[in-house]
Amino acid sequence: MPKVVGLRCRECGAEYELQATHVCEMCFGPLDAVYDEALLKKIVSRSRIENGPKSMWRYRDLLPIEDSVNVVTLGEGYTPLVKADRLGAELGLRNLYLKNDSMNPTNSFKDRVVSVAISWARAHGFETIACASTGNLANAVAAYAARAGLECFVFIPVDLEPAKVAAISVFDPNLVAVRGTYDDVNRLCSQLLESTPWAFCNINIRPFYAEGSKTLTFETAEQLGWKLPEEIIIPIASGCQFVRHRQAVRELMEFGLVHSDRVPAFTGAQALGCAPVYNAFVSDTPDRVLPVKPNTIARSIAIGNPSDGVYVNRIARETGGVVEAVTEEEIVDAMRLLARTEGIFTETAGGVTIGVLAKLARAGRWRGDEVVVAYVTGHGLKTADVLASANGHERRVEIDPTMKSFREKVSI
Ligand SMILES: *Cc1c(COP(=O)(O)O)cnc(C)c1O
Ligand SMILES: [Zn+2]
Repeated sequence: MPKVVGLRCRECGAEYELQATHVCEMCFGPLDAVYDEALLKKIVSRSRIENGPKSMWRYRDLLPIEDSVNVVTLGEGYTPLVKADRLGAELGLRNLYLKNDSMNPTNSFKDRVVSVAISWARAHGFETIACASTGNLANAVAAYAARAGLECFVFIPVDLEPAKVAAISVFDPNLVAVRGTYDDVNRLCSQLLESTPWAFCNINIRPFYAEGSKTLTFETAEQLGWKLPEEIIIPIASGCQFVRHRQAVRELMEFGLVHSDRVPAFTGAQALGCAPVYNAFVSDTPDRVLPVKPNTIARSIAIGNPSDGVYVNRIARETGGVVEAVTEEEIVDAMRLLARTEGIFTETAGGVTIGVLAKLARAGRWRGDEVVVAYVTGHGLKTADVLASANGHERRVEIDPTMKSFREKVSI
């Protein structure tokens, strides 16, 4: 008995057979995977999950893969949920948690979505995996394609950070550097779909890819003792994961994994240098997300034309969340704040999330005892260059290898 029965349009409800496609032919709305809920209700349980592997695949019943022999895994997910007491003290939050997804195999959240996407593609006979990427996705796709022994094409903007290019190249994919922005790269890939038999993780097989995101929220609930937080802070690029986290909460309730009917507030984080969703959220017309040209150090979330932006705004409003944005300086300050208080080194996208958390906390958004979780989605070594060029924060001295020199230069 298959648990995934087809695809459904999020806008008009039109249904489609299971296949590698992501837009509705009637209304151009996005397509989502549809599960046999009656079947899932029978099999999903806390104990089945708790007895599963210590990876996101403990949630395999809620992922669109029928047969675990096809799973392509590097042990992604089941990342630490850290109680952040020192950061919380600075921000006036006594129950602040960080979901540290930089601990994934290629050091970003993208391993969750790619593990599902490539598993699905392999199960459905695809021989070549591809993607349009701002960096982290290409990193994950190159690694998981290598793991699966599949042909791989990754498309990136030509001016990507050197650390990210190195971390992609080592897996030896076909690396296509496009002279343009991410949005140009994405458009090119959409055109390529027509003439290639490839599985583009974030385009034609997006409905399956997107499902992997849910595991981040499933794990958060499990790690809180099968409870939901009061608010979740999520970085927004395309908005894909934000929307799936809302679905994950629905499923946690539907399948009896959490006994609560209070939906967390969903709050989105963007960099002001690329804030199309934020711009719409604070305007009179939140349903009109106008494209922007990105200009920010938060490259991994710099999508100027986010496909799920409208849904992000709806979910934020319906759940009592907000969409907030921070400056370039606030991003770097937040990276340092997180490192200094909690020992976690995050990339610029994590700086956006923590920057928004700090901004909202300082503006008095919370009383102080709410359970707030921030999703830290990528590792700091991916974007270390932004710290090297920002000066004025270093407690560094240079000395000769003598006691005299030490005593002269260092006060202890
Ligand atoms: C891709 C990515 C996101 C957000 O992705 P969506 O496109 O909004 O799903 C957030 N953080 C990091 C580090 C990412 O690489
Ligand atoms: Zn439709």
